[in-house]
Amino acid sequence: MKELILEMEDYAQEKNVPIIEKKSIAFIMKYIKDNNVKNILEIGAAIGYSAILMASATNDAFVTTIERDEERYMECLKNVKKCGLDKKINVVFQDALDVNLSEDLKYDLIFIDAAKGQYERFFEKYKYFLKEDGAIITDNLKFHGYVGKSDKIESKNLKGLVQKIENYIDFLKENEEFDTTFYDIGDGLSVSTWKDEK
Ligand code: SAM
Repeated sequence: MKELILEMEDYAQEKNVPIIEKKSIAFIMKYIKDNNVKNILEIGAAIGYSAILMASATNDAFVTTIERDEERYMECLKNVKKCGLDKKINVVFQDALDVNLSEDLKYDLIFIDAAKGQYERFFEKYKYFLKEDGAIITDNLKFHGYVGKSDKIESKNLKGLVQKIENYIDFLKENEEFDTTFYDIGDGLSVSTWKDEK
């Protein structure tokens, strides 16, 4: 398992696949243990690196992870199988904005780690699948140090993306339904929980 994790880190670097930073996944794995998290939904599987680590955090953590890129989805399936975690990880090949999840299952943890420009849409779509005492964790809120400095960025595309993350941070701060704590860990993480347990 440890070997496969290292292989995945090498593969990600070689093929330029963005995967979560070590400190951030360590934080999430601790959150899973401390909060007795069982059902996890991940938006953005890539090659399965974070899904595999989340599913290994405890004996009863189960992950559903969504990926829209076919090559990464295939690689993710392969890695999940190699780790022997196919009973704990369900990989869905679809755009997360088109997925229709069963309304019977609610999640203890939703981890948003897909297209940065769509964070708010993912949050609004998937909050209905979050348990009363669950949490939504979002990664990359510092976006390599660019967030908070969008006015100084010259590239139009990068500026637009960073502005979207800045808007998402404001959306979380001003949110009437959720309280959010921001952590300066890895590339910047947030943990959002329902204001009032419903
Ligand atoms: N969570 C992964 C990890 O740490 O190992 C990394 C995920 S990577 C940062 C983001 C992934 O989200 C990419 O592989 C991308 O193809 C996928 N993605 C982006 N937008 C998506 C969407 N709308 N639906 C599904 N997957 C999406």
